[in-house]
Amino acid sequence: MNIARELVPQGKLKPLFEDPLKLPFGRHFTDHMFTMEYAPATGWGNPRITPYGPLVLDPSANVFHYSQEVFEGQKAYKAHNGEILLFRPLENARRLNRSLRRLCMPEIPEDIFLQAECELLKQEKRWIPGLKGTSLYIRPTVIGTEAALGIKSSSDYLFFIILSPVGPYFKEGFDPISLRVSDTYSRAGSGGTGEAKTGGNYAGSLLATREATQQGYSQVLWLDAGEHRYVEEVGAMNIFFVIDGKLVTPALGGTILHGITRKSVLELAPDLGIASEERRISIDEVVEGIASGKVSEVFGAGTAAVISPVGKIGYRGTDSVINGNRTGPWAKKFFDTLTAVQYGEVQDTHGWVYVVK
Ligand SMILES: *Cc1c(COP(=O)(O)O)cnc(C)c1O
Repeated sequence: MNIARELVPQGKLKPLFEDPLKLPFGRHFTDHMFTMEYAPATGWGNPRITPYGPLVLDPSANVFHYSQEVFEGQKAYKAHNGEILLFRPLENARRLNRSLRRLCMPEIPEDIFLQAECELLKQEKRWIPGLKGTSLYIRPTVIGTEAALGIKSSSDYLFFIILSPVGPYFKEGFDPISLRVSDTYSRAGSGGTGEAKTGGNYAGSLLATREATQQGYSQVLWLDAGEHRYVEEVGAMNIFFVIDGKLVTPALGGTILHGITRKSVLELAPDLGIASEERRISIDEVVEGIASGKVSEVFGAGTAAVISPVGKIGYRGTDSVINGNRTGPWAKKFFDTLTAVQYGEVQDTHGWVYVVK
């Protein structure tokens, strides 16, 4: 793929954020973005790197009315030797294509996706902060752009990648978050789009999240839509429990997002010496297990926080406190191990690290 470039003149480049450790999530964007268009007659084409800026779209464009939109979330890390590292980027390419298929949108060849990311990252290398805990967040997105009302799949699409330097997710130490179980709202139903990474899933979750934060919780713990009985996942994270010394996470069944952090935690478990199981977990088992001490730890897993310990779960007006609201040893072990791999500090025995060349 031959990528055209229209670059910001040297003297007009944006200043870097002074203290990368204080960077807020997703507020600052780099100088350039990648775009590529799809038309039915020609397929994907016109790849280019241009100054970061607003898109011009027709008000009748599909994405505004029928929400053909899918995205990914990844991070680029700077290793001590200056190399740019990605974590399992082919998994993101594959998941993007699964999401695209589900939303009836055209797939993007994996090598084209990866090349687009690498070329943009090399162009924007000065934006990768480099301190442990900081990274350059990558947001590849595809939207339907055909200008036409009337419900149907768009004929035309835009693929873009934007980059945002981000600081550590945990500003003051590795502190547990609190979750509110929603037993009225649902995130995803059987046969729906729950396992696609699409904006619509998030739009439907915002009201429940607002109600949870108004009550002092950080995020929503979603249950299955059918019975409101089985635990599914958190806002943008998969969920893990340590039950009787075993790592347990809800089995994927169409409504739960296939998290790459989730997959990596499961694949690391044998290395770290903990047995793991994917199965159904009822909220009653969780609440009773916390009360009896069988559930010793709960943590979320996702790209943004990597591992996020959970200290409190609110369900039907009662809070269950896990491990005295302190970070447990397994959350810490998985966090330390995954981040050491991501920053290239330890040998990558799983072949997860991808060096941008
Ligand atoms: C992105 C996402 C996750 C986490 O996936 P990772 O690949 O680990 O970042 C979990 N749940 C939802 C709903 C998500 O959108």
